[in-house]
Amino acid sequence: MIAQAYCGHQFGYFTMLGDGRAMLLGEQITPDNKRFDIQLKGSGRTIYSRGGDGKAVLGPMLREYIISEAMYGLKIPTTRSLAVTLTGEEVFREVLQPGAVLTRVASSHIRVGTFQFAVANGEREDIKALADYTISRHFNELDNIVDEKEKYKLFLRRVVELQAELISSWQLVGFIHGVMNTDNMSICGETIDYGPCAFMDTYKKDTVFSSIDRDGRYSYKNQPSIGQWNLSRFAETLVPILDDDTDKSLEIAISEVVKYQKIYDTFWRKGMSKKLGIFDEEKDDIFIFYDLLSLIEKYKADYTNTFIDLNFEDFEDNELFNSSDFLKWKERWKNRVNKQSKSADEIKSLMKNNNPAIIPRNHKVEEAIEMAVSKGDISFTKRLVDLLSNPFEHTQEQKKFSKEHNKFDENYKTYCGT
Ligand code: AMP
Ligand code: MG
Repeated sequence: MIAQAYCGHQFGYFTMLGDGRAMLLGEQITPDNKRFDIQLKGSGRTIYSRGGDGKAVLGPMLREYIISEAMYGLKIPTTRSLAVTLTGEEVFREVLQPGAVLTRVASSHIRVGTFQFAVANGEREDIKALADYTISRHFNELDNIVDEKEKYKLFLRRVVELQAELISSWQLVGFIHGVMNTDNMSICGETIDYGPCAFMDTYKKDTVFSSIDRDGRYSYKNQPSIGQWNLSRFAETLVPILDDDTDKSLEIAISEVVKYQKIYDTFWRKGMSKKLGIFDEEKDDIFIFYDLLSLIEKYKADYTNTFIDLNFEDFEDNELFNSSDFLKWKERWKNRVNKQSKSADEIKSLMKNNNPAIIPRNHKVEEAIEMAVSKGDISFTKRLVDLLSNPFEHTQEQKKFSKEHNKFDENYKTYCGT
């Protein structure tokens, strides 16, 4: 068992960290030759625990289980949860809570912070060794490139692409990570570290749930730009190997990181097109997207359910759908969609496959946790996870779980390191 060392920019400030309550058990190679890390989270103190107890409690571990499995169902790259195990111990977190350990499965735990650790503590050769290892593990299509400078440039490019894609898919489903520190950004492009994360019900761009994020650094609207900020920190770590000349290296690093915005926009627009039944995006469609989002925000509508209602043309009696600006927008959208040489069924099914019927709503997640923690009953958690495992099925039961609960989210707070 090993605890991994890493550094990280936490809320913008550089810190030495490491697995303070996680232990890597080892790697498993699946029959289709994929390699996974298996890690315990909450298994006790390590040399990186600092003042912490190294433990975890049932509620937050179940939260990680439910939300990471929901992300997997949504087809968003993520670490997964194999099990939550009660330790039988009581752990103090303001009050005594049942101790628990999460077994996490990840393509790897190599983070931006792992590269920052190599730079802070190692030589050029160490950075190169880490980059080579990561390339072999995650980007082996680059392994055979003889020109090393080219290889590392393309490595950086792939990491930028994967993050742009990942964060655009978060935005499309209304997921807020909550603690996008560089130690919580995985190089292979998986969502990692489900601490203060939550899904947004009512669409409000500056939504923040995390109790410690007072300035909204990791708010919903800031996630795309923070993604690029973190990638800049990653690119910096590669400066010693991108070229022998530092100025040239910096030039390469900058030229790759600036590509992020365009890649992000392209993914996001493609995703939004599908959500609205548009097969081949046209230049002006962006106005249809932005205008809809402004209306959803103006009328404080539910993000996920608005798209479901558009999909099934079954409009709830709410302020958004009753407004004249929405009716105008709907006509524009209908004209655009019907212009395509596609049948109504084809359009509907594109939308169905891209608009989840269910997300892990905060009040449902809390209900599941409450039942497990106070009554030792995990039946609701199991049912929720089951419904979340195929969110594009659109069953009647999923519909029942999709009711928003606006008042609940208004003052909802999430926590780190719980
Ligand atoms: P996180 O916010 O989960 O990314 O955690 C930030 C850092 O704090 C990581 O190095 C964690 O391993 C560490 N940490 C979080 N909770 C605990 C705990 N209960 N005991 C020891 N270390 C912890
Ligand atoms: Mg972390």
